[in-house]
Amino acid sequence: MKVQGTYYFSNSSKTCSAEIEIIGKHIKVLTSDGDLVLETERSFVKISLSIPGLPDSLKFSDGSSFVPSEKSVRWPSDSLLSRIAERLMNNLTALIIILVSTPLLIWFLMFTVIPNIAESTAELIPQAPKSLLSKGLMEHLEENFFLSSEIDSKKIETIETLFYETLDDLGLDRKKYLLLFYKSDYLGANALALPDGTIILTDGMIEKLISYPDSLLSVLLHEVGHIENNHSIRLIIQSLGVGIIFTYLVGDIQGLAEIVSGSGIGLLQSSFSREMEIEADRFSVVSLDKINIPKERFIFAMETIDSDGDEPGSNSLLVKYLSTHPHTEERIQLVKDL
Ligand SMILES: [Zn+2]
Repeated sequence: MKVQGTYYFSNSSKTCSAEIEIIGKHIKVLTSDGDLVLETERSFVKISLSIPGLPDSLKFSDGSSFVPSEKSVRWPSDSLLSRIAERLMNNLTALIIILVSTPLLIWFLMFTVIPNIAESTAELIPQAPKSLLSKGLMEHLEENFFLSSEIDSKKIETIETLFYETLDDLGLDRKKYLLLFYKSDYLGANALALPDGTIILTDGMIEKLISYPDSLLSVLLHEVGHIENNHSIRLIIQSLGVGIIFTYLVGDIQGLAEIVSGSGIGLLQSSFSREMEIEADRFSVVSLDKINIPKERFIFAMETIDSDGDEPGSNSLLVKYLSTHPHTEERIQLVKDL
């Protein structure tokens, strides 16, 4: 690269018209007669900040400087970043592609890559951390949301027998599961699945479905579906993955720590994803089919809990149920279509 301009000598008002020659990392300043004025390495030369309308001047370590006659001269920079930026500015198409593809890439990572990684890694998580997590969740639930069940012990026994015998019939390990009963004003008619195989049935749910044991069973099998598919562990891994992406984007390490420590409790607040609910529904329907119970009993269960909202004064129950089991209408339609 050769550039014509004016050379300003160090500590003097003397100038001369000169030419700069840049070869690789070397810079030479020559007078118009071809005499060598200065020879140096590029890394010892400072480039002035680009100011529109003014040429980029070069300042040498001895205090002398060079100002090109052409205003549009831009010096090649040593920094990789500025070289990339320069290339990008010269290539608007590439810039647009990057601007469009970055959000697409993040979207792809969050909704495809991370859920897939979560699904395959969740299976590798041993029982011990699941038990530890469930113990913590259970303590939180008992402290904040649960009261002793008021359902009479005969009914409880009937439900237990039905549940555990069904697990046997389905070839599932009954030792992996523990069915617990609680009254909860906050959760209303609800059923919860903890990562270690604990399933909690609320008095509200039993009262709604006690006369329809097949429907009650279908709700329990939906929860078994969450456990068999490791949904809560997948949810934790996913929130960790998303947390890592955001930490990478915004550099917020503190935020990541909060996600890690809060993901257990977050499980109670955030619902399973739509896909996970549908997967659990499918598990319930397939299991019911194996023991010759029609899927209509499950649809009935969903509609019964859903119809709660029409009764005056019980709107909150519906909201609470829907908050942990959203998209009921869509799910009912999907189960009908199975
Ligand atoms: Zn569910």
